[in-house]
Amino acid sequence: MMLVLGLVLIGCGPEKPKASAPVARPKVIATTSILADVVKSLGGSQVEVETLMPAGVDPHLYKPTAGDASKISEAKLVLSHGLELEGRMGDILGNLPATTKSLVVGDTLPKERLRPIPGQANKYDPHVWLDVSLWMLIIDPIVASLSEVVPEGKTTFELNAKNLKADLTRLHGVVQKQIEQIPAANRVLVTAHDSFGYFGRAYGLEVKAIQGVSTAAEAGVQRMQELSQFLTDRKVPAIFTESSIPPANIKALKEATSAKGWTVREAGPLFSDSLGDEKSGAATYFDMMVANATAISLALR
Ligand SMILES: [Zn+2]
Repeated sequence: MMLVLGLVLIGCGPEKPKASAPVARPKVIATTSILADVVKSLGGSQVEVETLMPAGVDPHLYKPTAGDASKISEAKLVLSHGLELEGRMGDILGNLPATTKSLVVGDTLPKERLRPIPGQANKYDPHVWLDVSLWMLIIDPIVASLSEVVPEGKTTFELNAKNLKADLTRLHGVVQKQIEQIPAANRVLVTAHDSFGYFGRAYGLEVKAIQGVSTAAEAGVQRMQELSQFLTDRKVPAIFTESSIPPANIKALKEATSAKGWTVREAGPLFSDSLGDEKSGAATYFDMMVANATAISLALR
């Protein structure tokens, strides 16, 4: 027995330090690419950020996979949007392991700045990131949560927050300037689903959509008729597809409008509920907002 043990010990020997071995960083999970981008900006090299939903995926319809549950079980912190954006993730987000802290960023925003959904008591439009000045308000709550799970990173998170706030303040102005280029009569934004309500409120556009704030409900024939009439009456130059939604409804609306005698252009895709991939020019929140504002501004001029 002693002999065997001795051999094993000799076999192990003193370990040489591996210079290139990565240090395991605390894992933080965000549900969407949009939220993950903020956490990456704030967490810097102190944390490892993982995104559950790949770019281009519709968060309203996303069903968690078995892999998501195991990722979550290893995480120190899970960040979600809430406001029912992740419609099918309720079970998994509501039953986090005791070792995993949760932050629902939508719940940290002041209620008076949320858009109530007409006819639905205590329900709010979840697309808050499309108003930069509103989305900035989630920075401090995220810093507080990160600092709780990684106390040694607090100073870094606070410094990153200061820089991010400066960037986003600048971004808000960039978006404003783009939208101001559109002639007042053309400031009408028609999209596949009702994701741009906060954007319209913040930057001065009238917003209409085929589907509601969730993509879970089908678009009605009557809605198509109303919208095609509206586009014709107002001579709206363009309507927009969204990267996370199949373009079929927008194509149908274009045809319905054409049948009424007005030719509307199909523009986009806009990045509403997801960042784009690396080649899209919308792979970060900053770039996504600039890409959206530029696309809208050019198509409606
Ligand atoms: Zn949406």
